[in-house]
Parts: sequence; C-alpha cells; structure tokens
Amino acid sequence: MTGTNGHQASDPLKEIETRLFINGEYVESSNGKAFGLLSPKTHAVVAKVFEASEEDVDRAVASAKAAQPAWAALTVEERSSCFKKLAALVREHNDELARLEALSMGKPVSTFIDGPAFSWLFDYYSESGYDVQGTSSLNMPGFVNLTFRQPYGVVGVIIPWNVPLLFFAKKAAPALAVGNTVVLKSSEKAPLAASITNPTRVYLLTFKQSARIGHFIKEAGFPPGVINIVTGFGNVSGSVLSHHMDVRALSFTGSTRTGRLIQQASSKSNLKPVFLELGGKSPAIVFEDADLEAAAQATQYSVQTNSGQTCMATSRVYVQDTIAEKFIALFKEKFGPVKVGDPTLKETNHGPQADKVQYENVLKYLEIGKKDGKLIMGGNPDSRENGYFVAPTIFTDTPEDSVIMREEVFGPVVNINIFKTEEEVMAKANNTEYGLYAAVFTKNIDRAMRFAKGLEAGTVGVNCTSPTTGKDTPFGGYKGSGLGREGLHHSLDHFLETKSSLDLA
Ligand code: NAD
Repeated sequence: MTGTNGHQASDPLKEIETRLFINGEYVESSNGKAFGLLSPKTHAVVAKVFEASEEDVDRAVASAKAAQPAWAALTVEERSSCFKKLAALVREHNDELARLEALSMGKPVSTFIDGPAFSWLFDYYSESGYDVQGTSSLNMPGFVNLTFRQPYGVVGVIIPWNVPLLFFAKKAAPALAVGNTVVLKSSEKAPLAASITNPTRVYLLTFKQSARIGHFIKEAGFPPGVINIVTGFGNVSGSVLSHHMDVRALSFTGSTRTGRLIQQASSKSNLKPVFLELGGKSPAIVFEDADLEAAAQATQYSVQTNSGQTCMATSRVYVQDTIAEKFIALFKEKFGPVKVGDPTLKETNHGPQADKVQYENVLKYLEIGKKDGKLIMGGNPDSRENGYFVAPTIFTDTPEDSVIMREEVFGPVVNINIFKTEEEVMAKANNTEYGLYAAVFTKNIDRAMRFAKGLEAGTVGVNCTSPTTGKDTPFGGYKGSGLGREGLHHSLDHFLETKSSLDLA
C-alpha cells in the first residue's frame, strides 16, 4: 500500500481503516485496493482507506435502488425519527469527529463547525417531507388536473474535503427527507469523519467509543441501503457514480474543473440533473466611507479561515486609494498573529494546507505573486511549524491579468489592489470566470444597493463576509461557480420530480 503522496504506509495494524458502507455493512473494496492517508502535519500515515471500484459503486447503487421504494413509503414521522437520532449521535461524538478531520486534512479542532452543522441540518430536514406538496386545478372542463412531486429514486452525492460533514448533510439530508436514497462519495483527501467505518485498537484506545458514521446510520434506524458511502478517488468512484444510469440526480460540491466533467458525464449517460456548487475568486470592495476596522476584520477572517481553503474566500480585496495605506496596515495587523500549529490542539486556529498537492499548489501561486505583484507579508512556507504550513500572505499592486488574480489559490493568500472610482472597481470585480460570492463595504446605502445589483455573484455581502451556507438564503454561483441554489427549503426542489396527472372528472 502506498500513501496518497507516494509515501510507504507504515504498519497497517496501527492505522484507522476506512471501509465502504454498502447496504448497511462495512466492506473492503472488491479488489482489495487501499491507500495510506498522510497527515498534513506529521506526514505519517494516519489511515488505511479502501478505494471503491466500479463494481463497488454498482453494488452501492443497486442497494440504494432496492431500498428506495420502501424508504419513500415510510411516513414522515418514521423517517424523521432516524434523522433526529443520527443528528444526536453526531452531536454526542463531536470531539472525536473534530479530531478525525484534524488528522486527515489539518483543520484545527477549534474551528470544527462541521459536526454541529451536520446535526443542525439533519434536525432541520427531519420533517421536510411535509413540505412536499402538489397543486390542483379545475380549469379544463371534464378533468381534474393534479400535480405530484415525487422523489427521483437514487441520488448521487459527491463532496469535497474542506468541510466534509457539512456538505454530507447539506445534500444527503434533503434528498433523503423527500424519499430518495443516497450513494455518497467522500473525498480521498478527507475521508475520515464522513466515512470512517472500522477503527483499529489504537484508535479505540484514544476514544472510548468510535466515531463511525456508518455505525451511527445503522444505530439511528436507517434501513440498509438508504445511505451508502463509497470512498476512493474521483476518477474512479466519482466518475462511475456520475455516469451511472441508475443514479437519477446528482449533487456535487467541488472544483469547477470537476463540475465540468460531471456535467459531461450526465450528458453522456441518462441526462440526470446535476447541481453544482463550484469554486470562486471572490472580490471584496472597501470604500473610503466604510468602517475600516470591521472591513479589515471581515476580509481577513474570510481569507484566513480553514487556512484559506474555503470557496467563498475574498481573495481579491479592492480598496479605495484614499484609505489604502490605512486599510493594508489594519489587515496586516489582524492577519499576522494567527496561532499556527498542531490542528489537534485547542489553541491552534491556523492549520496546515490539506495535503502535499494543495501545499505545493499554493507555493506555486506565491512565486507567481512575487513575480507579478508586490509582496507585503509572508510569501513562504511557515517556518514556525513542520508540516504543510503556509505563512499568511499579502500581495498588493498585482496586475488584473496575473494568474494569481484569476485562479483560485485555496490558501491563506490575499491580493489587495487599489481603485479610484465605482465604475472601475465594478468592472474589475466582475472580470472573472467565477461568481460565487462578493462583498462591498460602505456606509452609503445607495452605493451598497448599486453593488448588490451590479456584482455578478450568487451572494453579495454588504458590510460582511459571513458565510450564509446552511441558513435560509439560497446559496450558489453565477458563471463558472455553479448551477442551482442550495439552502434549507431551496434544496428540496433538487431532489423532486414533478408529475402532471389529468383525471377524468
Ligand atoms: P475536487 O473537484 O478536486 O473534488 C471534489 C470531489 O469530486 C472529490 O470527492 C473528488 O474525489 C471528486 N472527483 C474528482 N474527480 C472526479 C471526477 N472525474 N468525477 C467525479 N468526481 C470526481 O474539489 P476539492 O479539491 O475536493 O475541493 C475544493 C474545491 O471545491 C474548490 O474549488 C472550492 O472552491 C470548491 N468548493 C465549493 C463550495 C461551494 O459551495 N461552492 C464549497 C466548498 C468547496
């Protein structure tokens, strides 16, 4: 078994095992293939992860297909009880799940919002079956016209590594609530919290009980086959799932590159509807009349949180010329003193990049930034720690056509550029293939409204960069940032077909 980054695995008996969860059972991959997951902090193997084969995905889909009619036939109360129990079990095991994420992708335990978000969403959707309503009309003489909403059947869910449990719940919970069954593919970079299934003795010594989502799914009462989890690499299990003829709808969060492949897979197979939450290169615009302290705090938080590995990170900050010097000083003051360190320790709030690939990718962008722009802070691996740590980095005066201004860096890196007029900054902010998020900081309400209207983004924050995901505003992207909107009741539509029925009266 080789590691994801080419390292040799250590003694597999000392590792956590992550198996597939199919038809209510933990299983190894049919071909026995597995890889060693490496810690981004210590570079040691922390888990053995079985890789689902095409045959395994087929089995998972078949089991979801077989389970779906009986699941859809349950009452909302019966389904609801499984949702509430699963939410409670995850809440109870929050600290263990946080530690698993720290081990796999380096997220500091102090910043682990994933478990609480998972439980909140499963609780929220537990009774959403009641929101599924059709319509009726008597407008055609001789007929009663009825409209039903029905589940698709088997829904595929593919999630990224940066907030795995949040995306698990955001997609699987609404799909299940309205009577679909699910095959979920976890990310190869962070498979532990979403799919750990068979912890070894060493793991059990660390925790009294094991945080096993598959185990919780069973304990909560979900019948076998209703939720299946496959692990492994995107080009195998993800691709098979998105091409599968029996997967009738697919919800994906990840990069724009993979989103394109998923849309192609749909067009080459059964034209399944695909819902795509993709990458971003979000602008934040700071006008001279803004509360500069608050603007610096919000934009710094946006780029620093999860070590810059968030889709909404305001990685392009445009600041008006008259206040540029003051704003940059404030930003620097807040960006500098983050507590970098071991993500399993409570005092850490800045962990390593998720893995070697992510880390080297960020370093490549730092070199581009140094060549094209002016380095103000950072620009290197973080010398304070071993592991894949990148120092919080600020560039200014970077040309708009530089690669670092156009591509998603996914690291603690910000480009701060200066503007003079509204027209100029609106054009610059919109000059991107992405359109996930944008923010404007000003006390002028008319200007705020002009920018809320004019910025090409699925969400525009006015005097804030706070994420709204999981709450009741629809979330999603313009342009290359996605297709469709997610969020509470908005998500239910993704997972329901509409049928018209004309009945002779
Ligand atoms: P990724 O696209 O590399 O991988 C996402 C998932 O897709 C993984 O499970 C991966 O195994 C799978 N995959 C890879 N190739 C595939 C293929 N050919 N067919 C099917 N599945 C495949 O993205 P990532 O690196 O895991 O996540 C980071 C990206 O996700 C960033 O671009 C980020 O902006 C984006 N993201 C977007 C949102 C949002 O809400 N818009 C939220 C979080 C992350």
